[in-house]
Amino acid sequence: MNPLETLLQEMILESGPISVERYMALALGHPVYGYYRTQAAVGAEGDFITAPEISQMFGELIGLWAVEVWRLMGAPKEVKLVELGPGRGTLMADALRAVKVAPDFRDAIEVHLVEISLPLREKQRAALEGQGIRIVWHASLDEIPPGPAIFIANEFFDALPVRHYVHRDGGWRERQIGVDENGRLFFGVSGAHESAIAAKGEPEDILEVGVGAARLMTQLGVRVVTQGGAVLAIDYGYSEPARGETLQAMRAHKFVDPLESPGEADLTAHVNFSALARAARGAGAAVHGPVTQGDFLARLGIFERASALERAAAPAQRAAINSALERLAGEGEGFDRATDMARLFKVLAVTRREFDPPPGFAEGAPNEG
Ligand code: SAH
Repeated sequence: MNPLETLLQEMILESGPISVERYMALALGHPVYGYYRTQAAVGAEGDFITAPEISQMFGELIGLWAVEVWRLMGAPKEVKLVELGPGRGTLMADALRAVKVAPDFRDAIEVHLVEISLPLREKQRAALEGQGIRIVWHASLDEIPPGPAIFIANEFFDALPVRHYVHRDGGWRERQIGVDENGRLFFGVSGAHESAIAAKGEPEDILEVGVGAARLMTQLGVRVVTQGGAVLAIDYGYSEPARGETLQAMRAHKFVDPLESPGEADLTAHVNFSALARAARGAGAAVHGPVTQGDFLARLGIFERASALERAAAPAQRAAINSALERLAGEGEGFDRATDMARLFKVLAVTRREFDPPPGFAEGAPNEG
């Protein structure tokens, strides 16, 4: 039993079962034992791989996306380029390299990184030093000073806590975590019905509510409306709400039991994009998308970028570029579903209402040249 498991057990025995939301928040963010406080997480030697770690093209295209959005904003003299949960700093490093083609944008930006993990902050510092751009770290969004800002979040919303409700005895009860007679954590349900949930359900249906994600999107929407800027959210998720839960734990690139060794595995839940869109609209902002990651990257020109890289690459590297392209944006048959980012990842942008659709969201067939 690890220290966090012992702590959770004591907490539950003392004050009763805890919600899935609280469990997720503690397993990921406990100040001493939380996963994101202690683990290296992202990358080949971490627990999972993300798009920026697959290819430099991802961060480069997002950097160029930010330049275009800044122009649509009227090219303000100062703009904050904010990344939420920057992991190893790879996306931002690739983006900053790519935006050298737009010196006016580079002169206007100040980079802000929102990151709770101290080990990852060190990695970010190492990845970004030498860029000649001022970088400021924050523990939360609230710490970022006011002003127009472009927010980038890749695989960040999926780390925010969800609540689960189980339909039982004619109503929804909150799913909770208790301690069984052998001292093990297990899933149960609360005794009381939640009268505030209007959704219909069949017995044993599970309803997953992304409370953390919706709260954050509301905050971002208000900020964009009042101060200007845009949000780009990219995540594993669904556009139409479905019944069922998606809480999953990953360790060393394998799925494990979410209640096993809390704090040692990455816990995520798929992002409900319709709930994110509702939160942003509720804040008075405009929503673009969601579109699939494949369509988004194709419209931003990933196929052209890959061809250019391939022309410059040694023959041995060409296959690697092509396979990265397929993983990020390909539509090929026979993909491993779990790694088929092109289709399963969605991209959503949030802007002020009087804003043209940002690049990647305009109607029309994606350019797959
Ligand atoms: N965007 C990166 C990393 C994704 S992993 C990539 O695509 O590779 C999630 C990131 O969010 C990590 O950097 C993690 O430390 C950070 N994170 C998770 N929860 C957070 C929170 N509540 N506040 C700030 N950062 C958080």
